[in-house]
Amino acid sequence: MAKKQFKAESKRLLELMIHSIYTNREIFLRELISNASDAIDKLCYLSLTDDKVGLGRGDFAITITQDKDAGTLTVSDNGIGMDKQALEENLGVIAKSGSLQFKENLEKGEEKSDDIDIIGQFGVGFYSAFMVSDTVTVISRAYGSDTAYKWVSSGADGYTITECEKDTVGTDIIMKLKADTEDEHYSQYLEEWPLRELIKKYSNYIRYPIQMMVTKSRPIEKKEVDDENKAPEYESYQELETINDRVPIWHKKKSEVSDEDYNQFYKEHFFDFTDPAKVIHISTEGVVSYEALLFIPSHLPRDYFTKDYERGLQLYSSGVLIMDKCADLIPEHFRFVRGVVDSQDLSLNISREMLQQDRQLQVIASSIEKKVKRELVKMLENEREQYEAFFKNFGIQLKYGVVGDYGAHKDALKDLLLFYSSTEEKLCTLAEYVSRMKEDQKYIYYACGETVAKVDRLPQTEAIKAKGYEVLYLTDEVDDFVMQMLHDVDGKEIKSVASDDIVDESEKKAAEDQTKENKELLDFVKESLDGKIKEARVSAKPGSHAVCLSSDGGVTLEMEKYFSMMKG
Ligand code: ADP
Ligand code: MG
Repeated sequence: MAKKQFKAESKRLLELMIHSIYTNREIFLRELISNASDAIDKLCYLSLTDDKVGLGRGDFAITITQDKDAGTLTVSDNGIGMDKQALEENLGVIAKSGSLQFKENLEKGEEKSDDIDIIGQFGVGFYSAFMVSDTVTVISRAYGSDTAYKWVSSGADGYTITECEKDTVGTDIIMKLKADTEDEHYSQYLEEWPLRELIKKYSNYIRYPIQMMVTKSRPIEKKEVDDENKAPEYESYQELETINDRVPIWHKKKSEVSDEDYNQFYKEHFFDFTDPAKVIHISTEGVVSYEALLFIPSHLPRDYFTKDYERGLQLYSSGVLIMDKCADLIPEHFRFVRGVVDSQDLSLNISREMLQQDRQLQVIASSIEKKVKRELVKMLENEREQYEAFFKNFGIQLKYGVVGDYGAHKDALKDLLLFYSSTEEKLCTLAEYVSRMKEDQKYIYYACGETVAKVDRLPQTEAIKAKGYEVLYLTDEVDDFVMQMLHDVDGKEIKSVASDDIVDESEKKAAEDQTKENKELLDFVKESLDGKIKEARVSAKPGSHAVCLSSDGGVTLEMEKYFSMMKG
Protein backbone atom coordinates (compact mmCIF):
# COMPACT_ATOMS: atom_id res chain seq x y z
CA MET A 1 0.00 0.00 0.00
CA ALA A 2 1.31 3.40 -0.97
CA LYS A 3 2.43 5.75 1.74
CA LYS A 4 0.78 9.12 1.88
CA GLN A 5 3.01 12.13 2.26
CA PHE A 6 2.60 14.69 4.97
CA LYS A 7 1.84 18.19 3.81
CA ALA A 8 5.07 20.06 3.24
CA GLU A 9 5.00 22.21 6.35
CA SER A 10 4.07 19.31 8.59
CA LYS A 11 6.97 17.38 7.20
CA ARG A 12 9.45 20.07 8.08
CA LEU A 13 8.12 20.35 11.59
CA LEU A 14 8.18 16.60 11.99
CA GLU A 15 11.78 16.43 10.90
CA LEU A 16 12.68 19.03 13.43
CA MET A 17 10.85 17.13 16.13
CA ILE A 18 12.53 13.88 15.31
CA HIS A 19 16.01 15.30 15.16
CA SER A 20 15.63 17.86 17.87
CA ILE A 21 18.23 17.78 20.53
CA TYR A 22 15.61 19.26 22.76
CA THR A 23 15.85 18.25 26.37
CA ASN A 24 12.25 18.73 27.32
CA ARG A 25 10.90 15.79 25.34
CA GLU A 26 8.74 14.77 28.26
CA ILE A 27 6.00 17.19 27.26
CA PHE A 28 4.82 14.69 24.61
CA LEU A 29 2.74 12.98 27.27
CA ARG A 30 1.02 16.20 28.30
CA GLU A 31 0.13 16.84 24.66
CA LEU A 32 -1.37 13.40 24.10
CA ILE A 33 -3.27 13.50 27.37
CA SER A 34 -4.73 16.89 26.58
CA ASN A 35 -5.82 15.67 23.16
CA ALA A 36 -7.48 12.69 24.85
CA SER A 37 -9.19 15.03 27.26
CA ASP A 38 -10.41 17.24 24.39
CA ALA A 39 -11.80 14.17 22.61
CA ILE A 40 -13.63 13.10 25.77
CA ASP A 41 -15.00 16.63 26.22
CA LYS A 42 -16.56 16.38 22.79
CA LEU A 43 -18.24 13.03 23.41
CA CYS A 44 -19.23 14.00 26.93
CA TYR A 45 -20.93 17.06 25.52
CA LEU A 46 -22.79 14.94 22.99
CA SER A 47 -23.90 12.54 25.72
CA LEU A 48 -25.85 15.33 27.36
CA THR A 49 -28.31 15.39 24.50
CA ASP A 50 -27.78 12.02 22.85
CA ASP A 51 -28.77 8.90 24.79
CA LYS A 52 -27.14 6.65 22.23
CA VAL A 53 -23.69 7.60 23.54
CA GLY A 54 -24.41 5.25 26.43
CA LEU A 55 -21.76 6.77 28.67
CA GLY A 56 -22.19 9.08 31.64
CA ARG A 57 -19.80 11.67 33.01
CA GLY A 58 -18.18 9.14 35.31
CA ASP A 59 -17.47 6.57 32.62
CA PHE A 60 -14.88 8.61 30.79
CA ALA A 61 -11.20 8.01 31.40
CA ILE A 62 -7.76 8.25 29.89
CA THR A 63 -5.63 5.17 30.26
CA ILE A 64 -1.86 4.90 30.06
CA THR A 65 -0.47 1.44 29.38
CA GLN A 66 3.17 0.39 29.29
CA ASP A 67 4.29 -2.76 27.54
CA LYS A 68 7.91 -3.42 28.39
CA ASP A 69 8.24 -6.45 26.13
CA ALA A 70 6.97 -4.63 23.08
CA GLY A 71 8.65 -1.37 24.11
CA THR A 72 5.42 0.56 23.65
CA LEU A 73 3.59 3.19 25.59
CA THR A 74 -0.10 3.68 24.83
CA VAL A 75 -2.41 6.56 25.62
CA SER A 76 -6.07 5.55 25.25
CA ASP A 77 -9.28 7.46 25.57
CA ASN A 78 -12.96 6.70 25.14
CA GLY A 79 -13.66 10.07 23.56
CA ILE A 80 -15.16 11.03 20.23
CA GLY A 81 -12.61 9.17 18.07
CA MET A 82 -11.63 9.89 14.49
CA ASP A 83 -12.91 8.46 11.22
CA LYS A 84 -10.73 8.05 8.19
CA GLN A 85 -11.19 11.60 7.04
CA ALA A 86 -10.50 13.04 10.47
CA LEU A 87 -7.29 11.02 10.77
CA GLU A 88 -6.26 12.32 7.41
CA GLU A 89 -7.10 15.92 8.16
CA ASN A 90 -5.99 16.15 11.74
CA LEU A 91 -2.84 14.09 11.73
CA GLY A 92 -1.70 14.76 8.18
CA VAL A 93 -1.44 18.49 8.40
CA ILE A 94 -0.50 21.11 10.92
CA ALA A 95 -2.79 24.05 10.93
CA LYS A 96 -2.78 24.98 14.57
CA SER A 97 -1.91 28.42 15.72
CA GLY A 98 1.14 27.57 17.79
CA SER A 99 2.48 25.23 15.19
CA LEU A 100 1.93 27.70 12.45
CA GLN A 101 3.81 30.39 14.26
CA PHE A 102 6.58 27.94 14.82
CA LYS A 103 6.72 27.18 11.14
CA GLU A 104 6.79 30.85 10.22
CA ASN A 105 9.71 31.45 12.51
CA LEU A 106 11.51 28.58 10.85
CA GLU A 107 10.99 30.22 7.50
CA LYS A 108 12.32 33.51 8.75
CA GLY A 109 15.44 31.60 9.65
CA GLU A 110 15.19 32.38 13.34
CA GLU A 111 15.15 28.73 14.22
CA LYS A 112 17.30 26.69 16.56
CA SER A 113 17.45 27.37 20.25
CA ASP A 114 14.56 29.83 20.54
CA ASP A 115 12.12 27.82 18.53
CA ILE A 116 13.11 24.57 20.06
CA ASP A 117 12.15 26.19 23.30
CA ILE A 118 8.70 26.93 21.95
CA ILE A 119 8.15 23.22 21.60
CA GLY A 120 8.92 22.80 25.25
CA GLN A 121 6.89 25.69 26.51
CA PHE A 122 3.81 25.37 24.44
CA GLY A 123 3.90 22.11 22.61
CA VAL A 124 2.96 21.44 19.07
CA GLY A 125 0.40 18.81 19.83
CA PHE A 126 0.25 15.37 18.43
CA TYR A 127 3.56 15.54 16.58
CA SER A 128 5.50 15.73 19.81
CA ALA A 129 4.99 11.95 20.04
CA PHE A 130 7.76 11.67 17.47
CA MET A 131 10.25 13.18 19.87
CA VAL A 132 10.27 9.89 21.75
CA SER A 133 8.98 7.35 19.22
CA ASP A 134 10.26 5.48 16.18
CA THR A 135 6.75 4.64 15.13
CA VAL A 136 3.41 6.05 16.16
CA THR A 137 0.24 4.05 15.57
CA VAL A 138 -3.17 5.60 16.04
CA ILE A 139 -6.12 3.24 16.24
CA SER A 140 -9.38 5.10 16.34
CA ARG A 141 -13.07 4.50 16.03
CA ALA A 142 -15.28 7.53 15.67
CA TYR A 143 -18.52 7.87 17.54
CA GLY A 144 -21.39 6.73 15.31
CA SER A 145 -19.21 4.50 13.13
CA ASP A 146 -18.67 0.72 13.17
CA THR A 147 -15.39 0.87 11.35
CA ALA A 148 -12.09 1.57 13.00
CA TYR A 149 -8.94 2.83 11.28
CA LYS A 150 -5.28 2.49 11.91
CA TRP A 151 -2.92 5.34 11.11
CA VAL A 152 0.76 4.42 11.16
CA SER A 153 3.80 6.61 10.66
CA SER A 154 7.49 6.25 11.31
CA GLY A 155 8.19 9.89 10.79
CA ALA A 156 8.74 12.30 7.99
CA ASP A 157 8.46 9.79 5.16
CA GLY A 158 4.68 9.64 5.43
CA TYR A 159 1.86 7.58 6.87
CA THR A 160 -0.60 4.82 5.98
CA ILE A 161 -4.25 4.40 6.91
CA THR A 162 -5.93 0.99 6.92
CA GLU A 163 -9.12 -0.49 8.32
CA CYS A 164 -8.83 -2.44 11.55
CA GLU A 165 -10.72 -3.83 14.51
CA LYS A 166 -11.63 -1.87 17.61
CA ASP A 167 -14.47 -2.83 19.93
CA THR A 168 -15.16 0.51 21.49
CA VAL A 169 -15.38 4.12 20.42
CA GLY A 170 -12.26 6.15 21.13
CA THR A 171 -8.59 6.38 20.31
CA ASP A 172 -5.39 4.54 21.19
CA ILE A 173 -2.09 6.27 20.51
CA ILE A 174 0.59 3.57 20.53
CA MET A 175 4.18 4.75 20.64
CA LYS A 176 7.05 2.43 19.83
CA LEU A 177 9.70 4.18 21.87
CA LYS A 178 13.13 4.95 20.49
CA ALA A 179 16.10 2.93 21.68
CA ASP A 180 17.96 4.42 24.63
CA THR A 181 21.02 6.47 23.88
CA GLU A 182 23.71 7.65 26.23
CA ASP A 183 21.94 10.96 26.78
CA GLU A 184 18.33 10.00 26.52
CA HIS A 185 16.58 7.17 28.31
CA TYR A 186 13.38 6.67 26.42
CA SER A 187 12.79 3.43 28.30
CA GLN A 188 12.02 5.47 31.43
CA TYR A 189 8.61 6.10 29.87
CA LEU A 190 7.86 2.43 30.41
CA GLU A 191 8.43 2.73 34.15
CA GLU A 192 5.71 3.53 36.62
CA TRP A 193 7.41 6.31 38.61
CA PRO A 194 8.68 8.56 35.83
CA LEU A 195 5.25 8.32 34.21
CA ARG A 196 3.49 9.09 37.46
CA GLU A 197 5.66 12.16 37.93
CA LEU A 198 5.03 13.40 34.41
CA ILE A 199 1.29 13.04 34.84
CA LYS A 200 1.41 14.86 38.16
CA LYS A 201 3.62 17.61 36.83
CA TYR A 202 1.75 18.51 33.67
CA SER A 203 -1.64 16.91 33.76
CA ASN A 204 -2.64 16.73 37.40
CA TYR A 205 -5.73 18.85 36.87
CA ILE A 206 -7.17 17.20 33.79
CA ARG A 207 -10.88 16.76 34.53
CA TYR A 208 -11.03 13.07 33.68
CA PRO A 209 -9.23 10.33 35.54
CA ILE A 210 -5.86 9.42 34.09
CA GLN A 211 -5.44 5.78 34.92
CA MET A 212 -2.36 3.66 34.86
CA MET A 213 -1.80 -0.02 35.47
CA VAL A 214 0.45 -0.18 38.49
CA THR A 215 2.07 -3.05 40.29
CA LYS A 216 1.22 -3.44 43.95
CA SER A 217 1.93 -6.10 46.46
CA ARG A 218 -0.14 -7.75 49.15
CA PRO A 219 0.46 -10.49 51.69
CA ILE A 220 -0.57 -13.91 50.52
CA GLU A 221 -3.47 -15.23 52.53
CA LYS A 222 -2.90 -18.85 53.51
CA LYS A 223 -5.51 -21.19 54.82
CA GLU A 224 -3.29 -22.89 57.36
CA VAL A 225 -0.60 -21.13 59.20
CA ASP A 226 2.02 -23.78 59.87
CA ASP A 227 4.60 -21.55 61.43
CA GLU A 228 3.42 -18.42 63.13
CA ASN A 229 6.86 -16.89 63.29
CA LYS A 230 7.41 -17.13 59.58
CA ALA A 231 7.48 -13.76 57.84
CA PRO A 232 4.37 -13.26 55.70
CA GLU A 233 4.86 -13.83 52.00
CA TYR A 234 3.84 -11.21 49.47
CA GLU A 235 2.48 -11.48 45.99
CA SER A 236 2.36 -8.73 43.43
CA TYR A 237 -0.71 -7.85 41.47
CA GLN A 238 -1.73 -5.25 38.95
CA GLU A 239 -4.32 -2.59 39.50
CA LEU A 240 -5.65 0.39 37.58
CA GLU A 241 -4.94 3.51 39.61
CA THR A 242 -6.07 7.07 39.00
CA ILE A 243 -2.98 9.25 39.14
CA ASN A 244 -4.27 12.80 38.80
CA ASP A 245 -5.98 14.94 41.44
CA ARG A 246 -8.39 16.26 38.81
CA VAL A 247 -9.88 19.22 40.65
CA PRO A 248 -7.26 21.89 41.21
CA ILE A 249 -7.49 23.73 44.49
CA TRP A 250 -8.03 27.06 42.69
CA HIS A 251 -11.02 25.55 40.94
CA LYS A 252 -12.77 24.86 44.22
CA LYS A 253 -15.06 27.31 45.97
CA LYS A 254 -13.38 29.38 48.65
CA SER A 255 -15.76 27.95 51.21
CA GLU A 256 -14.52 24.46 50.36
CA VAL A 257 -10.87 25.22 50.98
CA SER A 258 -9.37 25.63 54.45
CA ASP A 259 -6.45 27.90 55.32
CA GLU A 260 -4.47 24.76 55.98
CA ASP A 261 -5.22 23.52 52.43
CA TYR A 262 -4.02 26.79 50.94
CA ASN A 263 -0.86 26.83 53.03
CA GLN A 264 -0.11 23.22 52.26
CA PHE A 265 -0.56 23.81 48.54
CA TYR A 266 1.68 26.87 48.66
CA LYS A 267 4.48 25.10 50.47
CA GLU A 268 4.42 22.05 48.22
CA HIS A 269 3.98 23.95 45.01
CA PHE A 270 6.47 26.73 45.59
CA PHE A 271 8.97 24.91 47.79
CA ASP A 272 8.69 27.12 50.82
CA PHE A 273 8.92 26.03 54.43
CA THR A 274 6.80 28.81 55.86
CA ASP A 275 3.16 29.64 55.39
CA PRO A 276 2.44 32.55 53.08
CA ALA A 277 1.64 35.97 54.54
CA LYS A 278 -1.39 36.32 52.34
CA VAL A 279 -3.48 34.13 50.04
CA ILE A 280 -5.47 35.69 47.22
CA HIS A 281 -7.99 33.41 45.56
CA ILE A 282 -9.58 34.90 42.47
CA SER A 283 -12.33 33.53 40.32
CA THR A 284 -13.77 35.89 37.75
CA GLU A 285 -15.97 35.71 34.76
CA GLY A 286 -16.24 38.56 32.34
CA VAL A 287 -14.45 39.67 29.22
CA VAL A 288 -11.96 36.98 30.10
CA SER A 289 -12.63 34.25 32.62
CA TYR A 290 -9.84 33.05 34.82
CA GLU A 291 -9.03 31.62 38.17
CA ALA A 292 -5.96 32.47 40.14
CA LEU A 293 -4.41 31.50 43.41
CA LEU A 294 -1.78 34.00 44.47
CA PHE A 295 0.51 34.09 47.46
CA ILE A 296 2.58 36.75 49.15
CA PRO A 297 5.49 35.05 50.91
CA SER A 298 5.97 35.78 54.59
CA HIS A 299 9.71 36.20 54.18
CA LEU A 300 12.16 37.38 51.59
CA PRO A 301 13.10 34.46 49.30
CA ARG A 302 16.77 33.75 49.69
CA ASP A 303 17.56 34.45 46.05
CA TYR A 304 15.18 37.41 45.79
CA PHE A 305 17.80 40.02 44.99
CA THR A 306 19.84 37.77 42.72
CA LYS A 307 19.33 37.08 39.08
CA ASP A 308 18.28 33.53 39.96
CA TYR A 309 14.94 34.81 41.15
CA GLU A 310 12.54 34.82 38.24
CA ARG A 311 9.38 36.84 38.28
CA GLY A 312 6.27 35.12 36.99
CA LEU A 313 3.13 33.14 37.67
CA GLN A 314 2.40 29.61 36.57
CA LEU A 315 0.05 29.66 33.64
CA TYR A 316 -2.49 26.91 33.04
CA SER A 317 -4.96 26.54 30.26
CA SER A 318 -7.93 24.55 31.54
CA GLY A 319 -5.82 22.70 34.05
CA VAL A 320 -2.89 22.01 31.73
CA LEU A 321 0.38 23.67 32.59
CA ILE A 322 1.61 25.77 29.68
CA MET A 323 4.23 27.96 31.28
CA ASP A 324 6.07 27.81 34.56
CA LYS A 325 7.03 31.46 35.03
CA CYS A 326 4.92 33.75 32.94
CA ALA A 327 6.44 37.16 33.67
CA ASP A 328 3.81 39.01 31.66
CA LEU A 329 1.18 38.14 34.24
CA ILE A 330 2.64 40.14 37.09
CA PRO A 331 4.23 43.61 37.05
CA GLU A 332 7.79 44.08 38.22
CA HIS A 333 6.75 45.95 41.38
CA PHE A 334 4.78 42.90 42.51
CA ARG A 335 7.42 40.40 41.48
CA PHE A 336 7.36 38.84 44.95
CA VAL A 337 3.90 37.38 44.26
CA ARG A 338 3.90 33.64 43.53
CA GLY A 339 0.95 31.75 42.21
CA VAL A 340 -1.00 30.05 39.49
CA VAL A 341 -3.36 31.41 36.87
CA ASP A 342 -5.75 29.22 34.93
CA SER A 343 -7.85 30.36 32.00
CA GLN A 344 -9.90 28.33 29.61
CA ASP A 345 -9.75 31.24 27.20
CA LEU A 346 -6.08 30.65 26.44
CA SER A 347 -5.01 28.12 23.89
CA LEU A 348 -2.53 25.42 24.75
CA ASN A 349 -0.78 25.92 21.47
CA ILE A 350 0.23 29.48 21.92
CA SER A 351 3.76 30.62 21.33
CA ARG A 352 5.73 32.86 23.62
CA GLU A 353 5.67 35.72 21.12
CA MET A 354 1.94 35.48 20.71
CA LEU A 355 1.42 35.23 24.42
CA GLN A 356 3.00 38.63 24.87
CA GLN A 357 0.56 40.21 22.48
CA ASP A 358 -2.38 38.18 23.64
CA ARG A 359 -5.23 40.47 24.61
CA GLN A 360 -6.75 37.97 27.00
CA LEU A 361 -3.46 37.68 28.82
CA GLN A 362 -3.15 41.44 29.12
CA VAL A 363 -6.65 41.68 30.52
CA ILE A 364 -5.84 38.98 33.05
CA ALA A 365 -2.57 40.67 33.99
CA SER A 366 -4.15 44.03 34.67
CA SER A 367 -6.95 42.42 36.64
CA ILE A 368 -4.39 40.56 38.75
CA GLU A 369 -2.45 43.74 39.40
CA LYS A 370 -5.58 45.45 40.66
CA LYS A 371 -6.51 42.55 42.92
CA VAL A 372 -3.07 42.38 44.48
CA LYS A 373 -3.14 46.11 45.12
CA ARG A 374 -6.60 45.89 46.65
CA GLU A 375 -5.49 43.07 48.91
CA LEU A 376 -2.48 45.03 50.10
CA VAL A 377 -4.59 48.09 50.82
CA LYS A 378 -6.99 45.91 52.79
CA MET A 379 -4.11 44.49 54.77
CA LEU A 380 -2.75 47.97 55.41
CA GLU A 381 -6.10 49.16 56.70
CA ASN A 382 -7.10 46.14 58.75
CA GLU A 383 -3.94 44.28 59.67
CA ARG A 384 -1.38 46.97 60.21
CA GLU A 385 1.17 44.82 61.98
CA GLN A 386 1.06 42.21 59.24
CA TYR A 387 1.36 44.90 56.63
CA GLU A 388 4.41 46.37 58.30
CA ALA A 389 6.03 42.94 58.29
CA PHE A 390 5.21 42.66 54.60
CA PHE A 391 6.59 46.13 53.98
CA LYS A 392 9.81 45.27 55.72
CA ASN A 393 10.33 42.48 53.21
CA PHE A 394 9.01 43.96 50.01
CA GLY A 395 8.53 47.69 50.59
CA ILE A 396 11.76 48.41 48.77
CA GLN A 397 10.28 46.66 45.71
CA LEU A 398 7.29 48.99 45.81
CA LYS A 399 9.63 51.98 46.03
CA TYR A 400 11.56 50.81 43.00
CA GLY A 401 8.17 50.47 41.35
CA VAL A 402 7.45 54.16 42.00
CA VAL A 403 10.68 55.38 40.40
CA GLY A 404 10.79 52.79 37.60
CA ASP A 405 9.18 53.15 34.19
CA TYR A 406 9.44 56.95 34.46
CA GLY A 407 6.92 56.98 37.25
CA ALA A 408 4.19 55.20 35.30
CA HIS A 409 3.10 53.27 38.40
CA LYS A 410 3.57 55.91 41.05
CA ASP A 411 -0.09 56.69 41.49
CA ALA A 412 -0.98 53.05 41.92
CA LEU A 413 1.79 52.51 44.45
CA LYS A 414 1.90 55.67 46.54
CA ASP A 415 -0.88 54.54 48.91
CA LEU A 416 1.16 51.48 49.77
CA LEU A 417 4.27 53.24 50.98
CA LEU A 418 5.24 53.63 54.61
CA PHE A 419 7.72 56.11 56.09
CA TYR A 420 8.95 56.77 59.60
CA SER A 421 7.26 59.79 61.14
CA SER A 422 9.00 62.22 63.51
CA THR A 423 5.85 62.87 65.53
CA GLU A 424 4.32 59.38 65.57
CA GLU A 425 7.69 57.68 65.98
CA LYS A 426 6.51 54.81 63.81
CA LEU A 427 5.78 54.04 60.16
CA CYS A 428 2.93 55.90 58.54
CA THR A 429 1.41 56.44 55.12
CA LEU A 430 1.49 59.66 53.13
CA ALA A 431 -2.27 59.97 53.53
CA GLU A 432 -1.92 59.75 57.30
CA TYR A 433 0.73 62.46 57.18
CA VAL A 434 -1.51 64.73 55.12
CA SER A 435 -4.41 64.19 57.50
CA ARG A 436 -2.25 65.49 60.37
CA MET A 437 -0.87 68.51 58.53
CA LYS A 438 -1.16 71.86 60.31
CA GLU A 439 -3.42 74.47 58.82
CA ASP A 440 -0.56 76.78 57.88
CA GLN A 441 1.65 73.91 56.72
CA LYS A 442 2.52 74.24 53.06
CA TYR A 443 4.67 71.20 52.44
CA ILE A 444 5.10 67.57 53.26
CA TYR A 445 8.59 67.47 54.78
CA TYR A 446 11.11 64.70 54.61
CA ALA A 447 14.72 64.24 55.57
CA CYS A 448 17.18 61.60 54.37
CA GLY A 449 19.99 59.84 56.16
CA GLU A 450 21.48 56.52 57.07
CA THR A 451 19.42 55.87 60.17
CA VAL A 452 16.41 57.38 61.91
CA ALA A 453 18.69 58.58 64.73
CA LYS A 454 21.04 60.34 62.33
CA VAL A 455 18.22 61.99 60.43
CA ASP A 456 16.77 63.19 63.71
CA ARG A 457 20.02 65.02 64.52
CA LEU A 458 20.17 66.93 61.24
CA PRO A 459 20.01 70.72 61.79
CA GLN A 460 17.44 71.11 59.04
CA THR A 461 15.21 68.48 60.62
CA GLU A 462 15.38 70.27 63.93
CA ALA A 463 14.39 73.57 62.34
CA ILE A 464 11.25 72.14 60.78
CA LYS A 465 10.35 70.22 63.93
CA ALA A 466 10.78 73.44 65.91
CA LYS A 467 8.02 74.94 63.81
CA GLY A 468 5.77 72.11 64.98
CA TYR A 469 5.72 70.26 61.69
CA GLU A 470 5.98 66.52 61.17
CA VAL A 471 8.98 65.20 59.21
CA LEU A 472 9.27 61.86 57.42
CA TYR A 473 12.62 60.20 58.03
CA LEU A 474 13.88 58.30 55.01
CA THR A 475 16.66 55.78 55.32
CA ASP A 476 16.62 53.82 52.04
CA GLU A 477 18.84 55.07 49.26
CA VAL A 478 15.99 55.06 46.79
CA ASP A 479 13.75 57.16 49.06
CA ASP A 480 14.89 60.54 47.84
CA PHE A 481 14.14 59.51 44.26
CA VAL A 482 10.76 58.21 45.36
CA MET A 483 9.87 61.61 46.83
CA GLN A 484 11.10 63.48 43.77
CA MET A 485 9.04 61.17 41.58
CA LEU A 486 5.90 61.50 43.68
CA HIS A 487 6.29 65.29 43.80
CA ASP A 488 3.05 65.85 45.70
CA VAL A 489 0.17 64.15 47.51
CA ASP A 490 -3.25 65.61 46.75
CA GLY A 491 -1.63 68.85 45.71
CA LYS A 492 0.54 69.07 48.83
CA GLU A 493 4.06 69.35 47.58
CA ILE A 494 6.71 67.11 49.04
CA LYS A 495 9.90 68.90 50.05
CA SER A 496 13.19 67.90 51.50
CA VAL A 497 14.11 69.77 54.69
CA ALA A 498 17.37 70.53 52.88
CA SER A 499 15.55 72.34 50.11
CA ASP A 500 15.95 76.09 49.73
CA ASP A 501 12.30 76.52 48.81
CA ILE A 502 10.96 75.77 52.25
CA VAL A 503 12.17 78.95 53.85
CA ASP A 504 9.77 81.91 54.12
CA GLU A 505 10.31 84.87 51.83
CA SER A 506 11.04 87.18 54.78
CA GLU A 507 13.48 84.73 56.30
CA LYS A 508 15.13 84.33 52.94
CA LYS A 509 15.41 88.02 52.48
CA ALA A 510 16.95 88.49 55.93
CA ALA A 511 19.43 85.71 55.25
CA GLU A 512 20.38 87.26 51.92
CA ASP A 513 21.00 90.61 53.53
CA GLN A 514 23.10 89.02 56.22
CA THR A 515 25.03 87.10 53.61
CA LYS A 516 25.92 90.39 51.94
CA GLU A 517 26.83 92.02 55.22
CA ASN A 518 29.10 89.15 56.23
CA LYS A 519 30.68 88.60 52.86
CA GLU A 520 34.22 88.77 54.22
CA LEU A 521 33.60 86.15 56.86
CA LEU A 522 31.82 83.82 54.45
CA ASP A 523 34.55 84.14 51.84
CA PHE A 524 37.03 83.23 54.53
CA VAL A 525 35.03 80.07 55.33
CA LYS A 526 34.95 79.11 51.67
CA GLU A 527 38.68 79.67 51.19
CA SER A 528 39.55 77.76 54.32
CA LEU A 529 37.59 74.75 53.08
CA ASP A 530 39.67 74.90 49.91
CA GLY A 531 37.27 73.98 47.13
CA LYS A 532 35.24 71.47 49.16
CA ILE A 533 32.17 73.70 49.04
CA LYS A 534 30.71 75.86 46.34
CA GLU A 535 29.56 78.69 48.51
CA ALA A 536 29.01 79.69 52.13
CA ARG A 537 26.02 81.78 53.10
CA VAL A 538 23.76 82.73 55.94
CA SER A 539 20.66 80.56 56.12
CA ALA A 540 17.50 80.28 58.18
CA LYS A 541 17.63 76.49 58.02
CA PRO A 542 20.07 75.35 60.70
CA GLY A 543 17.91 76.29 63.67
CA SER A 544 19.98 75.98 66.82
CA HIS A 545 22.96 74.56 64.90
CA ALA A 546 25.82 76.67 63.70
CA VAL A 547 26.11 75.18 60.23
CA CYS A 548 24.44 72.75 57.88
CA LEU A 549 25.25 71.32 54.48
CA SER A 550 22.90 71.79 51.61
CA SER A 551 22.81 71.35 47.88
CA ASP A 552 22.10 73.59 44.99
CA GLY A 553 19.34 73.12 42.40
CA GLY A 554 17.18 70.04 41.79
CA VAL A 555 19.69 67.47 42.92
CA THR A 556 19.47 66.96 46.66
CA LEU A 557 22.36 66.26 48.95
CA GLU A 558 21.27 62.62 49.32
CA MET A 559 21.16 62.19 45.58
CA GLU A 560 24.61 63.69 45.26
CA LYS A 561 25.88 61.22 47.83
CA TYR A 562 24.20 58.41 45.91
CA PHE A 563 25.69 59.48 42.60
CA SER A 564 29.19 59.83 43.94
CA MET A 565 28.83 56.37 45.52
CA MET A 566 27.75 54.94 42.13
CA LYS A 567 30.81 56.49 40.52
CA GLY A 568 32.81 54.50 43.05
P1 ADP B 1 -4.67 20.57 18.82
O1 ADP B 1 -4.90 19.67 19.99
O2 ADP B 1 -4.17 21.90 19.19
O3 ADP B 1 -5.87 20.66 17.92
P2 ADP B 1 -2.94 18.46 18.02
O4 ADP B 1 -1.80 18.34 17.06
O5 ADP B 1 -2.65 18.09 19.41
O6 ADP B 1 -3.48 19.92 17.94
O7 ADP B 1 -4.11 17.55 17.50
C1 ADP B 1 -4.61 17.72 16.19
C2 ADP B 1 -6.02 17.24 16.06
O8 ADP B 1 -6.06 15.81 16.04
C3 ADP B 1 -6.93 17.62 17.20
O9 ADP B 1 -7.47 18.91 17.01
C4 ADP B 1 -8.00 16.55 17.12
O10 ADP B 1 -8.98 16.90 16.17
C5 ADP B 1 -7.25 15.37 16.62
N1 ADP B 1 -6.92 14.46 17.70
C6 ADP B 1 -5.69 14.30 18.28
N2 ADP B 1 -5.74 13.36 19.25
C7 ADP B 1 -7.02 12.93 19.29
C8 ADP B 1 -7.71 11.95 20.10
N3 ADP B 1 -7.11 11.27 21.07
N4 ADP B 1 -9.03 11.77 19.84
C9 ADP B 1 -9.67 12.46 18.88
N5 ADP B 1 -9.06 13.38 18.10
C10 ADP B 1 -7.76 13.61 18.29
MG1 MG C 1 -3.46 19.04 21.26
